[in-house]
Amino acid sequence: MNIGDCMIYDVIIIGAGAAGIFAAANLLSDRKVLILEKNDRPGIKLLMTGSGQCNITNIESIKTFTKRYNNPGVARKVLFSFNNRMLMDYFEGLGLKLIVREDGKVFPQSLKSKDILDVLMREICSSKHQLNCNESVTDIKWQESIGLFSVVTGQRKYTSKKVMVATGGQSYPKSGSDGSFLDILAKIGVKMNSFKPALTSVKVVQYRFKNLSGVAIPSVRLSIERDSKAVVKTKGDLLFTHDSLSGPVILNSSRHIRVDDKMIFDFIPQFDENRLLEEMMHQISSNPRKEIKTIFEDSIILPKRLVESLLDITAIDRRKKASEVSKKNIQRFIGNCKHYEVTVMYKQGFENAMVSAGGVSSEEIDFDNMTWLRNRNMIFIGEVIDIDGETGGYNLQFAFSSAKKAVLGLLFD
Ligand SMILES: Cc1cc2nc3c(=O)[nH]c(=O)nc-3n(C[C@H](O)[C@H](O)[C@H](O)COP(=O)(O)OP(=O)(O)OC[C@H]3O[C@@H](n4cnc5c(N)ncnc54)[C@H](O)[C@@H]3O)c2cc1C
Repeated sequence: MNIGDCMIYDVIIIGAGAAGIFAAANLLSDRKVLILEKNDRPGIKLLMTGSGQCNITNIESIKTFTKRYNNPGVARKVLFSFNNRMLMDYFEGLGLKLIVREDGKVFPQSLKSKDILDVLMREICSSKHQLNCNESVTDIKWQESIGLFSVVTGQRKYTSKKVMVATGGQSYPKSGSDGSFLDILAKIGVKMNSFKPALTSVKVVQYRFKNLSGVAIPSVRLSIERDSKAVVKTKGDLLFTHDSLSGPVILNSSRHIRVDDKMIFDFIPQFDENRLLEEMMHQISSNPRKEIKTIFEDSIILPKRLVESLLDITAIDRRKKASEVSKKNIQRFIGNCKHYEVTVMYKQGFENAMVSAGGVSSEEIDFDNMTWLRNRNMIFIGEVIDIDGETGGYNLQFAFSSAKKAVLGLLFD
């Protein structure tokens, strides 16, 4: 529809990230759709996901799936109508083969995030939706008298019946989602909670594992203590980076972690401390001339470099013969494997956070169709909403499910 020279769009989607692209790909060609993206191309963050492999979702049962979010109630409302199985069927229906890893994470079979982006862009092109890149939206106004939005970018002004906000959070700001859109939303009266980094790695005082960068240890037990009380007890994979601790066990706990908290790791929860001591003493008496390092490496299923670091931390000379190391030192070494304690210096910021906590308050949104309760012509999808999930495919699933729910809502309009 045109008023004078002015084209009136049915929907303007602001942001061509995971949520915006998925919504556009699902909007039929009978709608006049415009996507405005401030970057020079769509899906920059989507391409980065899962280290470039794109962990789109998780095979976990939908009942427990929704517990992986900070707000399971909202997750249920959004995910039950477009769940992980439906998402997988959707991509496979478009001819994209998927694989499910042993840990339940789902990826494109090619392990290339570009394939996810390409398949969605193909749908957008075939519906002839318009994508304008290099256009940052700087203002939105609702014109009550004509019941239309005007959407202003650096270049020009557009008019639309509906606006779908898919501007993301604030993590990895260089990817385009830098949180600045919240100011525009605040101006029109949308209630929000400020963004905070979530799913971040953690820097600790006296980091002793710099040389282990890239090494991961499966199923580590972690207890986080504050004022001598345990605030979190959890288990998961730990990743050492060159300067911090990361991996799912850290990322998923990061929302609870505070400066000066104590983190106590059990690197070998499968071993009982006393039995391990007995076993080691037996090994030592049977192999007194072996290097102590070799005895430990053979008895404990840990990467060699971690064993070496823990020996250094315990101040045991790695080259010493087994018989020359005292039982007390063996006990101290096992103690470091079972209760290694570090103090939190700080959590990494938005530059390293995989998602943002905060965003448009869930009290502002009707989750039946993702519309703003104060103006049903405005729709919110993806990470701009105040909900965030654990690492493992949960955040992309929310972006896709919320986009699908919004598109379904438009069908009844
Ligand atoms: C390194 C990394 C790896 C990740 N890996 C995974 C993973 O494997 N699995 C998973 O589930 N999640 C993963 N995530 C999280 C996931 O990427 C996000 O939750 C998801 O991309 C959110 O989608 P979105 O569309 O809401 O926001 P985004 O993907 O951030 O897209 C928002 C878009 O809006 C644009 N925009 C912002 N403001 C404006 C404006 N004013 N005008 C026009 N355009 C604007 C931005 O440029 C951007 O393109 C990862 C995140 C990171 C940083």
